[in-house]
Amino acid sequence: MSYFSVSHVSKSYDNRLALSDFSLDLNQGEFLSIVGASGSGKSTLLRIMAGLEIQDEGQVFLNGEEVLNPKHKLVSGYDEIKLIHQDFHLFPNSTVEENIARPLLQFDKEYAKFRVEKLLSLLGLKTFKDRYPRQLSGGQQQKVAIAKALSVEPELLLLDEPFSSLDTIQTQKLIHELKDLFLELGTTVVFVTHDLDDALRLTDNLLILQKGKTVQSGTSQVLCENP
Ligand code: ADP
Ligand code: ADP
Repeated sequence: MSYFSVSHVSKSYDNRLALSDFSLDLNQGEFLSIVGASGSGKSTLLRIMAGLEIQDEGQVFLNGEEVLNPKHKLVSGYDEIKLIHQDFHLFPNSTVEENIARPLLQFDKEYAKFRVEKLLSLLGLKTFKDRYPRQLSGGQQQKVAIAKALSVEPELLLLDEPFSSLDTIQTQKLIHELKDLFLELGTTVVFVTHDLDDALRLTDNLLILQKGKTVQSGTSQVLCENP
């Protein structure tokens, strides 16, 4: 049994196929980059993976349990699947530290403190902890948004073009830092992008999506040898 799997999922909008008999299997701790042009179905796929949209056909499983909606929980209080996109979703009137701690309000105070400290430290945000989002650069804001999503230790992190508002240098730096963080935390990550270079910065484990279908998958070497 796979840790996470998408099995024969199809989705249409007004008779136009956005995803077509799409399947995918992931192991725990695996990183996968999905590369596709605009309109290839990337966002639709992630919304279905997160349980935010209902597919017409097929099923999605996490740990053998069907993912049906965003309230689907493993242990009470823990969100299993977190979806991040380019909007930062930060509370403007809360500091960096308060933003990251926000999803942990229902947890034990000591645990919440430990978790926030760890994320601030791993992401090099300690010196910014008392700043408000508007006092940070775009890259730093996105880092805080990702730290906030990771505070509850999600099983699976889904990144939908999260860096599209950042410049190339910021994006390269951020992906590099996040990769170390995900490895450290053992997070399973699916990263969706139109940019093959960015995809490769996270992982050599690739899936190429075209018109709602997988056209190729494997490492960049396998893809080069079988164009
Ligand atoms: P991508 O993220 O790769 O740009 P999307 O998943 O957003 O692709 O879109 C895939 C196809 O589905 C596109 O043709 C898009 O126009 C269509 N689509 C996506 N969401 C909707 C929606 N809510 N209503 C109608 N059509 C949609
Ligand atoms: P990055 O380090 O992500 O490339 P920038 O080059 O945009 O970010 O920012 C450089 C420094 O300026 C950072 O330390 C950031 O905190 C600070 N900074 C950027 N924008 C603002 C702002 N609007 N208010 C206060 N400080 C800012």
